[in-house]
Amino acid sequence: MRERRAAYMPLCHKCGRYAEYLDVESGRWLCAKCIASIVEYKFLRGIRLAKPRRGDNLVMVCRGDLQSYYALKTLIKVEKAYEVTIEAIELAPQPLCEELCEEEGIKYCFEEAKHDTYTDFRLAVLARLRGARDPLLVMPDALEDLAVYAMSEVWLGDLRGLLLDMLFRVSYPLSGVSVKALALLEPRLAARLPPAYLLASSRELLEELSRSTPSLPYSAVEALFELTAKLRKKSIKTS
Ligand SMILES: [Zn+2]
Repeated sequence: MRERRAAYMPLCHKCGRYAEYLDVESGRWLCAKCIASIVEYKFLRGIRLAKPRRGDNLVMVCRGDLQSYYALKTLIKVEKAYEVTIEAIELAPQPLCEELCEEEGIKYCFEEAKHDTYTDFRLAVLARLRGARDPLLVMPDALEDLAVYAMSEVWLGDLRGLLLDMLFRVSYPLSGVSVKALALLEPRLAARLPPAYLLASSRELLEELSRSTPSLPYSAVEALFELTAKLRKKSIKTS
C-alpha cells in the first residue's frame, strides 16, 4: 500500500499533465498552466462583477505582497484592450510594483507604510483616495486575506474597514484564489517576499481550522460579501 502511494502522481483534471496543486474548491488536481488560466478567468469574472464602465478609472491598490503583484500583472493583461485607464497606488514598506508600472506605462504612486491589520490598510487607502473621482478600486486580497479579515477583524466588531466598500466601487478579483496557487505561479517572487498575509497569528488559526474544514475560507468570504452587499443597499436607501 505504501509503495503504491509513493508511485502515485496525480494528473491534471483539465489537460492530463502531472498536477502540482489540489484545488480545494473543486476537489480537483491541476497543473500550473491550467491554474494560471483558471486564475485569469476568475480574475476577469471578478472585475466584470463590479461592472466597469467605458472610460473608467481602474485603481489597483497594492500592498507590497505577492497578491498585489499578481493582481496588477493580471489586471494589465486582461484590461489593456478595453477603454479604461489603469493606475496603481502602492502602500507598502518598499516599492514592489514600480518597475512593472514603468514597463507598462502605468501611472504609479508609492507611499511608504506598514500595516498590522487589514482594517488599518483599508483606512489608509480611504485616506489616500479622499476626493478621488469615482474610481473602480481593484483590491489585492486573495481568498485567505479576505477570510482572515472577515474572521479576525469584521466578525470581532471592527467594521471600519467596510467603509471602503460603502464609499467606493470595489472589486476583489482574487477573492476565490488561494495564496498557495499564486505562490505556485510566481515561486521566485513568493520566496523573496515577506509572509503572505498581514497577521501571522490569524494565518495560523485559519490554516488550523481549514485542515478540518477545507471550505471554511470560502464560507467566510461568501458571508463577508453578503454583508457588504446588504450594507451597500441599505446606505443607498437611507441616503
Ligand atoms: Zn493542466
